[in-house]
Amino acid sequence: MSECLFCKIVAGEVPSTKVYEDEYVYAFLDIDPKAPEHIIFVPKQHIGSANEISPDNSAVIAKIFEAISKVASEKGFADNGYRVVNNCGEDGGQTVGHIHFHLLAGRQLQWPPG
Ligand code: AMP
Ligand code: ZN
Repeated sequence: MSECLFCKIVAGEVPSTKVYEDEYVYAFLDIDPKAPEHIIFVPKQHIGSANEISPDNSAVIAKIFEAISKVASEKGFADNGYRVVNNCGEDGGQTVGHIHFHLLAGRQLQWPPG
């Protein structure tokens, strides 16, 4: 069994609140939301971080952004706007070693991030 938390969530071994799923992508509510809408998008296949994106797996990253666009539109916050965040590695603040994209919406977000 995988020791990766997000692989376990994709496999249904750890519970999550599903927002979206297709052949390549799984999205679920963040357990500790940083905005009124905070959804995590992951590839179903294990990719450790942005450092591991390559020509062999980059198509699934495009699928994730297709899913983000779809969910933002369906949930009704596409027009007001939103932010997509990928934290990579220690300085980036990555705490789960399976690449994921945060979709944050529902309030005015500050820039730059801390
Ligand atoms: P990062 O800090 O970019 O690696 O993001 C990891 C995110 O995963 C954080 O926003 C956490 O709140 C979230 N998270 C951790 N465990 C879970 C879980 N079991 N279900 C949903 N979200 C989680
Ligand atoms: Zn994983």
